[in-house]
Amino acid sequence: MNAPHLPEVAQRAVAAFLNRDGRLFVDGAWTAAHEGGLLTTEDPATGQPLTRFARGTAADIDRAVGAARRALDEGPWPGTPPRERARLLRRLADLVTRDAEMLALLESRDNGKPYGVARAFDINLAIEGLHYNAGWATKITGETLPDSLPGEWHTYTLREPVGVAGLIVPWNVPFTMAVAKLAPAIAAGCTVVLKPAEQTPLTTIRLVELCEEAGFPPGVVNLVTGLGSEAGAALVAHPGVDKVSFTGSTATGRAILTAAAGNFKRVSLELGGKSPTLILPDADLAQAIPAAAMGIFANTGQVCAAGSRLFAHEAVFDKVVEGVARIAEGLRLGPGTAPDSDLGPVISQTQLDRVLGYVESGSRAGARLVTGGHKAREQGYFVAPTVFVDTSPDMAIMREEIFGPVLCASRFGDDADVAQLARAANSTEYGLSASIWTRDLSRAHRLARRIRSGTVKVNAGPALDAALPFGGMKNSGWGRENGKEGVLAFTELKTVAMKLA
Ligand code: NAP
Ligand code: MG
Repeated sequence: MNAPHLPEVAQRAVAAFLNRDGRLFVDGAWTAAHEGGLLTTEDPATGQPLTRFARGTAADIDRAVGAARRALDEGPWPGTPPRERARLLRRLADLVTRDAEMLALLESRDNGKPYGVARAFDINLAIEGLHYNAGWATKITGETLPDSLPGEWHTYTLREPVGVAGLIVPWNVPFTMAVAKLAPAIAAGCTVVLKPAEQTPLTTIRLVELCEEAGFPPGVVNLVTGLGSEAGAALVAHPGVDKVSFTGSTATGRAILTAAAGNFKRVSLELGGKSPTLILPDADLAQAIPAAAMGIFANTGQVCAAGSRLFAHEAVFDKVVEGVARIAEGLRLGPGTAPDSDLGPVISQTQLDRVLGYVESGSRAGARLVTGGHKAREQGYFVAPTVFVDTSPDMAIMREEIFGPVLCASRFGDDADVAQLARAANSTEYGLSASIWTRDLSRAHRLARRIRSGTVKVNAGPALDAALPFGGMKNSGWGRENGKEGVLAFTELKTVAMKLA
């Protein structure tokens, strides 16, 4: 690849990286998989192989968990001062900053997203997350407690690391999510085993190389690439793992819960969504329309919090749908490494088939296509951004997560009060995120209270910030990532009660 618009140093670094087979990182050393297997990751813009990486299996997970256990139970890690953990995270932030362009290009090649998006969004969010969580390492505290026990006591809580954490990430925002789990885990004093998605392992491999360069002690950060059904399943079932932090599908989340039951692992689950965008008649449409469009089309719809259901008041419905459709038709689809691509492909043939299958099911159920609904471009897994109207709540396209650039629009009238709007917003099994567009702040606040989702945004596009807790209600998951809660999710609370007299 030689693209004059992309930084040359990054192109050379990516070419060198792709030229070698990926390895596992266990106990501070890079090794081949125990069974010697390799998997191939492909460029979703072409469907062609990109490079090979190690197919870790249960034996590798066992070694990695063993290394993480030793580092936690016997190694110097538990005695490492919080200040040093903070320093390691900041050093890692500096290395990610140094390599930001290489990482963005590598992400773009492996995942398909536009290079500029990866650079400005994915990599920057990761850097912010590292700095933010570095700050927490020295600020995780217990409390002294006002007990009423007979006599004189000193009672307090300790916040201890939860232990060995298995971190499993998906393919839609691979680097950012790996960091979003690694950084709070390290801040809390855990040791980790990372398992990236089989479609996008590359930037996580590079992240672990940077951890090594930053000077993380052996065994603190381990990496096992491989298949979810092999490496992933072995990790969540392993008795040496104390906590699993997972982002991905609701179905896999459910399987993980069952597997984690063996030793009552703590589990954080960041699952799917079917998030609503509500546009009220008094909304500022100049802002609401582009936000509604990019709320579903950004990252080619492969976003857990994507605003995949649109509810607009009948007075503005036609204007909103027309505006969103115009934006959809103006988005340029192409490889992430091309200078003029706004949207990349979906991740795989499986996802392409899945998205087009949903489109077909929507049409069959009586929804009307306003735009899109078909494969775009000859090569690669491109889907034209799609807008459906005439949808009804019982349709699969209105209930299930499509995870592609497909918007389902519905209208409501003056008769819809706050309770009815909230009911429409809440009418799926999910509860991850919601957007409300209105100038009526009282209505916005009342809706925000009634909508069952982990995040509610008012008059705003994406609001991703390492300080803001993010996660789902209902089938969208358990627990929160980011913010103080995200760090505390990697801790265990211990009560100490000492009788003084
Ligand atoms: P997935 O199965 O949930 O994969 C997510 C991660 O879990 C990957 O690292 C995967 O490894 C791993 N995994 C799979 N099975 C596992 C198991 N039994 N035990 C432990 N780990 C396991 O998601 P997918 O199959 O790639 O995508 C399917 C659908 O999930 C999408 O269409 C979308 O609806 C949804 N999804 C949601 C999100 C989100 O952010 N909420 C992200 C991705 C996908 P492998 O990659 O090797 O399978
Ligand atoms: Mg790939």
